[in-house]
Amino acid sequence: CGIVGYIGSKDTKEILLKGLEKLEYRGYDSAGIAVRNEEGVHIFKEKGRIADLRAVVDEEVQSSVGIGHTRWATHGAPSLYNAHPHQNEDRRFTLVHNGVIENDEHLKREYLLDVSLQSDTDTEVIVQLIGLFAKEGMTTEEAFRKTLSLLKGSYALALLDKEDDSTIYVAKNKSPLLVGLGENYNVVASDAMAMLQVTDQFVELMDKEMVLVTSDSVTIKNTNAEIIERASYTAELD
Ligand code: GLU
Repeated sequence: CGIVGYIGSKDTKEILLKGLEKLEYRGYDSAGIAVRNEEGVHIFKEKGRIADLRAVVDEEVQSSVGIGHTRWATHGAPSLYNAHPHQNEDRRFTLVHNGVIENDEHLKREYLLDVSLQSDTDTEVIVQLIGLFAKEGMTTEEAFRKTLSLLKGSYALALLDKEDDSTIYVAKNKSPLLVGLGENYNVVASDAMAMLQVTDQFVELMDKEMVLVTSDSVTIKNTNAEIIERASYTAELD
Protein backbone atom coordinates (compact mmCIF):
# COMPACT_ATOMS: atom_id res chain seq x y z
CA CYS A 1 0.00 0.00 0.00
CA GLY A 2 1.19 3.53 -0.56
CA ILE A 3 0.49 7.24 -0.94
CA VAL A 4 1.51 9.84 -3.50
CA GLY A 5 0.77 13.55 -3.88
CA TYR A 6 1.72 16.29 -6.33
CA ILE A 7 1.26 20.07 -6.43
CA GLY A 8 2.60 22.11 -9.36
CA SER A 9 2.04 22.77 -13.04
CA LYS A 10 2.97 19.42 -14.62
CA ASP A 11 0.47 16.69 -15.60
CA THR A 12 -0.73 15.80 -12.09
CA LYS A 13 -2.75 12.67 -12.89
CA GLU A 14 0.12 11.11 -14.88
CA ILE A 15 2.66 11.79 -12.11
CA LEU A 16 0.28 10.24 -9.56
CA LEU A 17 -0.41 7.15 -11.69
CA LYS A 18 3.31 6.63 -12.42
CA GLY A 19 4.03 7.04 -8.71
CA LEU A 20 1.42 4.45 -7.78
CA GLU A 21 2.88 2.03 -10.32
CA LYS A 22 6.25 2.37 -8.55
CA LEU A 23 4.54 1.46 -5.27
CA GLU A 24 2.80 -1.64 -6.64
CA TYR A 25 5.51 -3.88 -5.16
CA ARG A 26 4.17 -3.05 -1.67
CA GLY A 27 0.94 -4.95 -2.38
CA TYR A 28 -2.62 -3.60 -2.67
CA ASP A 29 -6.18 -4.56 -3.54
CA SER A 30 -7.51 -1.28 -4.94
CA ALA A 31 -6.27 2.16 -5.93
CA GLY A 32 -7.53 5.68 -6.46
CA ILE A 33 -6.60 9.28 -7.16
CA ALA A 34 -8.21 12.66 -6.51
CA VAL A 35 -7.30 15.70 -8.60
CA ARG A 36 -8.56 19.22 -8.05
CA ASN A 37 -9.18 21.95 -10.63
CA GLU A 38 -11.52 24.97 -11.08
CA GLU A 39 -14.51 22.64 -11.43
CA GLY A 40 -13.86 20.89 -8.11
CA VAL A 41 -12.34 17.64 -6.92
CA HIS A 42 -12.50 14.67 -9.31
CA ILE A 43 -12.13 11.19 -7.83
CA PHE A 44 -11.25 8.07 -9.80
CA LYS A 45 -10.94 4.71 -8.05
CA GLU A 46 -11.02 1.05 -8.95
CA LYS A 47 -10.64 -2.38 -7.41
CA GLY A 48 -7.66 -4.34 -8.79
CA ARG A 49 -4.55 -3.12 -10.57
CA ILE A 50 -3.23 0.38 -11.36
CA ALA A 51 -3.86 -0.56 -15.01
CA ASP A 52 -7.57 -0.88 -14.09
CA LEU A 53 -7.46 2.53 -12.39
CA ARG A 54 -5.81 4.06 -15.47
CA ALA A 55 -8.67 2.78 -17.57
CA VAL A 56 -11.24 4.80 -15.57
CA VAL A 57 -9.22 8.04 -15.26
CA ASP A 58 -10.52 10.79 -17.56
CA GLU A 59 -7.58 11.55 -19.86
CA GLU A 60 -8.82 15.09 -20.42
CA VAL A 61 -8.83 16.16 -16.76
CA GLN A 62 -6.24 18.86 -16.08
CA SER A 63 -5.17 19.67 -12.54
CA SER A 64 -2.35 21.24 -10.58
CA VAL A 65 -2.87 19.35 -7.33
CA GLY A 66 -3.75 15.76 -6.48
CA ILE A 67 -3.30 12.76 -4.20
CA GLY A 68 -3.23 9.01 -4.87
CA HIS A 69 -3.45 5.76 -2.91
CA THR A 70 -3.03 2.03 -3.08
CA ARG A 71 -5.07 0.22 -0.43
CA TRP A 72 -4.34 -2.87 1.59
CA ALA A 73 -7.71 -3.34 3.30
CA THR A 74 -7.73 -3.53 7.10
CA HIS A 75 -11.22 -2.16 7.89
CA GLY A 76 -13.91 -3.18 5.41
CA ALA A 77 -13.74 -5.48 2.40
CA PRO A 78 -11.52 -4.79 -0.60
CA SER A 79 -14.13 -3.08 -2.79
CA LEU A 80 -14.77 -0.02 -4.91
CA TYR A 81 -16.71 1.82 -2.20
CA ASN A 82 -14.02 1.18 0.43
CA ALA A 83 -11.22 2.26 -1.95
CA HIS A 84 -9.59 5.61 -1.18
CA PRO A 85 -9.76 8.62 -1.53
CA HIS A 86 -12.59 9.18 0.98
CA GLN A 87 -14.56 12.39 1.52
CA ASN A 88 -16.51 13.98 4.35
CA GLU A 89 -20.28 14.48 4.19
CA ASP A 90 -20.32 17.77 2.22
CA ARG A 91 -17.35 16.62 0.09
CA ARG A 92 -15.21 19.59 1.04
CA PHE A 93 -12.33 17.37 2.21
CA THR A 94 -10.70 14.44 0.38
CA LEU A 95 -8.30 12.07 2.17
CA VAL A 96 -6.00 9.12 1.52
CA HIS A 97 -4.66 7.02 4.41
CA ASN A 98 -2.28 4.14 4.95
CA GLY A 99 -2.29 2.50 8.35
CA VAL A 100 -4.76 1.41 11.01
CA ILE A 101 -6.84 3.61 13.33
CA GLU A 102 -7.47 1.64 16.53
CA ASN A 103 -10.11 3.88 18.14
CA ASP A 104 -12.31 4.43 15.09
CA GLU A 105 -15.42 2.86 16.70
CA HIS A 106 -15.01 5.05 19.77
CA LEU A 107 -14.60 8.18 17.61
CA LYS A 108 -17.72 7.27 15.61
CA ARG A 109 -19.80 6.97 18.79
CA GLU A 110 -18.31 10.09 20.33
CA TYR A 111 -18.52 12.47 17.34
CA LEU A 112 -20.19 11.00 14.26
CA LEU A 113 -23.60 9.63 15.31
CA ASP A 114 -25.34 12.20 13.05
CA VAL A 115 -23.11 11.54 10.04
CA SER A 116 -24.08 8.91 7.47
CA LEU A 117 -20.87 7.06 6.66
CA GLN A 118 -20.27 6.02 3.05
CA SER A 119 -17.73 3.22 3.65
CA ASP A 120 -16.65 0.61 6.20
CA THR A 121 -13.17 2.10 6.58
CA ASP A 122 -11.42 3.58 9.60
CA THR A 123 -10.13 6.22 7.17
CA GLU A 124 -13.53 7.79 6.58
CA VAL A 125 -13.77 8.55 10.31
CA ILE A 126 -10.68 10.78 9.97
CA VAL A 127 -12.04 12.84 7.08
CA GLN A 128 -15.51 13.11 8.64
CA LEU A 129 -13.93 14.46 11.85
CA ILE A 130 -11.98 17.07 9.87
CA GLY A 131 -15.22 18.10 8.13
CA LEU A 132 -17.08 18.31 11.43
CA PHE A 133 -14.48 20.51 13.10
CA ALA A 134 -14.25 22.75 10.01
CA LYS A 135 -18.04 23.19 10.11
CA GLU A 136 -17.72 24.24 13.74
CA GLY A 137 -15.53 27.12 12.56
CA MET A 138 -11.96 25.84 12.67
CA THR A 139 -9.51 26.51 9.84
CA THR A 140 -8.44 23.42 7.90
CA GLU A 141 -5.12 23.39 9.71
CA GLU A 142 -6.84 23.57 13.11
CA ALA A 143 -9.40 20.90 12.18
CA PHE A 144 -6.64 18.61 10.91
CA ARG A 145 -4.50 19.16 14.05
CA LYS A 146 -7.45 18.53 16.38
CA THR A 147 -8.34 15.33 14.47
CA LEU A 148 -4.74 14.07 14.63
CA SER A 149 -4.74 14.61 18.39
CA LEU A 150 -7.73 12.24 18.71
CA LEU A 151 -6.33 9.38 16.61
CA LYS A 152 -4.83 6.23 18.11
CA GLY A 153 -2.93 4.00 15.72
CA SER A 154 -0.82 4.36 12.61
CA TYR A 155 -1.31 6.70 9.70
CA ALA A 156 0.23 8.32 6.68
CA LEU A 157 -2.25 10.94 5.45
CA ALA A 158 -2.63 13.36 2.55
CA LEU A 159 -5.61 15.73 2.55
CA LEU A 160 -7.13 18.10 -0.03
CA ASP A 161 -9.47 20.99 0.79
CA LYS A 162 -11.88 21.91 -2.03
CA GLU A 163 -11.83 25.53 -0.85
CA ASP A 164 -8.04 25.86 -1.13
CA ASP A 165 -6.25 24.65 -4.25
CA SER A 166 -2.81 25.70 -3.02
CA THR A 167 -2.10 23.20 -0.25
CA ILE A 168 -1.77 19.46 0.40
CA TYR A 169 -2.02 18.75 4.14
CA VAL A 170 0.18 15.85 5.24
CA ALA A 171 0.84 13.94 8.48
CA LYS A 172 2.28 10.63 9.61
CA ASN A 173 2.52 8.39 12.66
CA LYS A 174 4.26 5.00 12.54
CA SER A 175 3.65 4.74 8.77
CA PRO A 176 6.23 5.96 6.22
CA LEU A 177 5.77 9.29 4.40
CA LEU A 178 8.22 11.72 2.77
CA VAL A 179 7.99 15.11 1.09
CA GLY A 180 9.95 15.64 -2.14
CA LEU A 181 11.15 19.02 -3.42
CA GLY A 182 11.05 20.33 -6.99
CA GLU A 183 11.37 23.62 -8.92
CA ASN A 184 7.88 25.17 -8.60
CA TYR A 185 6.35 21.88 -7.53
CA ASN A 186 6.50 19.57 -4.53
CA VAL A 187 5.50 15.98 -3.96
CA VAL A 188 4.49 13.52 -1.26
CA ALA A 189 5.27 9.78 -1.25
CA SER A 190 5.46 6.73 1.01
CA ASP A 191 8.72 5.81 -0.68
CA ALA A 192 11.20 8.07 -2.54
CA MET A 193 11.14 5.55 -5.40
CA ALA A 194 7.62 6.69 -6.34
CA MET A 195 8.80 10.23 -7.06
CA LEU A 196 12.34 9.75 -8.43
CA GLN A 197 10.58 10.43 -11.76
CA VAL A 198 10.44 14.15 -10.77
CA THR A 199 12.95 14.73 -7.94
CA ASP A 200 15.75 13.22 -5.87
CA GLN A 201 15.50 15.80 -3.05
CA PHE A 202 13.47 14.58 -0.06
CA VAL A 203 12.64 15.76 3.44
CA GLU A 204 12.11 13.21 6.19
CA LEU A 205 9.03 13.60 8.40
CA MET A 206 8.77 12.66 12.08
CA ASP A 207 5.80 11.04 13.77
CA LYS A 208 2.95 13.40 14.68
CA GLU A 209 4.28 16.31 12.63
CA MET A 210 1.92 18.10 10.26
CA VAL A 211 3.17 19.43 6.94
CA LEU A 212 1.67 22.06 4.64
CA VAL A 213 2.88 21.44 1.10
CA THR A 214 2.38 24.12 -1.57
CA SER A 215 3.99 24.34 -5.02
CA ASP A 216 6.82 26.49 -3.65
CA SER A 217 7.00 25.76 0.08
CA VAL A 218 7.06 22.93 2.61
CA THR A 219 6.16 23.94 6.18
CA ILE A 220 6.65 21.34 8.91
CA LYS A 221 4.92 21.95 12.25
CA ASN A 222 4.98 20.07 15.53
CA THR A 223 1.90 19.31 17.64
CA ASN A 224 2.16 22.79 19.22
CA ALA A 225 1.97 24.37 15.73
CA GLU A 226 5.61 25.52 15.97
CA ILE A 227 7.56 25.53 12.70
CA ILE A 228 10.36 22.95 12.45
CA GLU A 229 13.32 23.51 10.10
CA ARG A 230 14.78 20.42 8.45
CA ALA A 231 17.29 20.03 5.63
CA SER A 232 16.56 17.84 2.61
CA TYR A 233 18.70 14.88 1.51
CA THR A 234 19.47 13.42 -1.90
CA ALA A 235 17.92 10.02 -2.53
CA GLU A 236 20.30 7.52 -4.13
CA LEU A 237 19.24 6.04 -7.47
CA ASP A 238 20.00 2.36 -7.55
N1 GLU B 1 -7.09 1.09 7.21
C1 GLU B 1 -7.36 1.67 5.93
C2 GLU B 1 -8.36 0.87 5.14
O1 GLU B 1 -8.63 -0.26 5.46
C3 GLU B 1 -6.08 1.90 5.11
C4 GLU B 1 -5.41 0.63 4.69
C5 GLU B 1 -4.08 0.88 3.95
O2 GLU B 1 -3.06 1.10 4.62
O3 GLU B 1 -4.09 0.83 2.71
O4 GLU B 1 -8.93 1.34 4.21
